[in-house]
Amino acid sequence: MKSQLKLYNSLTRRKKIFTPLHPPYVGMYVCGPTVYSEAHLGHARPAITFDLLYRYLLHLEYKVRYVRNITDVGHLENDADEGEDKIEKKARLEHLEPMEVVQKYLNSFLKNMQDLNTLHPSIEPRASGHIIEQIELIKEILEKGYAYEINGSVYFDVLKYSKKYNYGKLSGRVLEDLQASTRTLDGQNEKKNPFDFALWKKATPGHLMRWPSPWSVGFPGWHLECSAMSTKYLGDVFDIHGGGMDLLFPHHECEIAQSTAATGNEPVRYWVHNNMITIDGQKMARSLGNFITLDQLFTGDHPMLQQAYTPMTIRFFLLQAHYRSTIDFSNEALQAAEKGLQKLLKAIETLKKLKPSLTSTVDIKALWNNCHEAMDDDLNSPMLLSHLFDGVKYINSANDGSEKLTAADLESLKKLFNTFVFDILGLKDEASGGNEEKLADDLMKIIINLRQDAKNKKEWGISDKIRDELKNAGIILKDLKDGADWVKE
Ligand code: ZN
Repeated sequence: MKSQLKLYNSLTRRKKIFTPLHPPYVGMYVCGPTVYSEAHLGHARPAITFDLLYRYLLHLEYKVRYVRNITDVGHLENDADEGEDKIEKKARLEHLEPMEVVQKYLNSFLKNMQDLNTLHPSIEPRASGHIIEQIELIKEILEKGYAYEINGSVYFDVLKYSKKYNYGKLSGRVLEDLQASTRTLDGQNEKKNPFDFALWKKATPGHLMRWPSPWSVGFPGWHLECSAMSTKYLGDVFDIHGGGMDLLFPHHECEIAQSTAATGNEPVRYWVHNNMITIDGQKMARSLGNFITLDQLFTGDHPMLQQAYTPMTIRFFLLQAHYRSTIDFSNEALQAAEKGLQKLLKAIETLKKLKPSLTSTVDIKALWNNCHEAMDDDLNSPMLLSHLFDGVKYINSANDGSEKLTAADLESLKKLFNTFVFDILGLKDEASGGNEEKLADDLMKIIINLRQDAKNKKEWGISDKIRDELKNAGIILKDLKDGADWVKE
């Protein structure tokens, strides 16, 4: 499918034609995780893709209402209409309440998102907190005649819908092909057609997560929550909907059908889908033993990993590929990303120390233009990085005297790197700035040096006072042959 974001961004910047549908807010909805396991590499890609889009829209001075849902009910095994709820299954295995499973993995997901330096969405609604809205939406779809009730469950009538609307519009799938390829599994017999999908399911006796409804005590179908919550927070029609390519069909196709059936309007102006990550050329899957969680990546604790990789290395690695391309994960590729990031950050440090020349030999204005153009070109982050590395060349050449940068050039370059590297790409220097341990270490170095000065001058009163007061604060100084080290008590 051709992405429409290119059009969207070029309209945004070049012609100023684009206005948000509900000014002043650009409405952006992204399908979030089903929280039943540790966040893995596959979660990092949409998180960073839509963080990049969010950050860029903010940079363009849009107000954005960014909604990312949390799926905590109704997502059954194999994304099907029958089978165990993924969260309930985990609850059974771990001897936890389903909502304990949700909290546990939501906490770890949010921690990982913070590690990756993604900005918080404006709203993170949970499916289980919007059962009433989902029931209301089912009632509307039933009223319009695009759903049917059978044995306490409600299904969406795809055949009837497609007589008036285009089911398959987003994914390019044709109903006849779907009909031929959809298997009829046991228990699906109650549907009129195998490609119909559940809006409400009657709970079987053992099913734990259940709510009363006009049709039965049961639970909503997986696709329904996104239609209900996007409508609630962004309106019947909104600007941008994002998610992984794997959600395009059936999840997003079903979202369009549900919302269109209820309101008569197509809900989304621009769809944005990120592509998938492969590992050494293979799909990531638990059964292949190449399933790597983000915590394993950050600690290096996985048989496939040669070392630990920092969150910013992962972020830089993902930004090196366009979000619509597949990206292959390997130790070699990550080590190259690590080097690339270090080179970029080192140049930013060098830039701080450069002395201005009276004349200039480079065109910083053109560099600004190139960087903006790359982002306008459907968020072309690899192109943006290549322009930023042009900037790195300028800095390194100015440092060895082969190029000249004026004071104005230096200021402009500093602003450019701040804007594109830190604000828009969301990278940060993990070795400094915002790192509390590093700050504590730097402060302790200053104190240790002051104490050494006092000792050199034989001002024992001062050196003892420093030692004792640090001890009161829970810090033990250990005198070494050259200087001192410190530990917390
Ligand atoms: Zn969704």
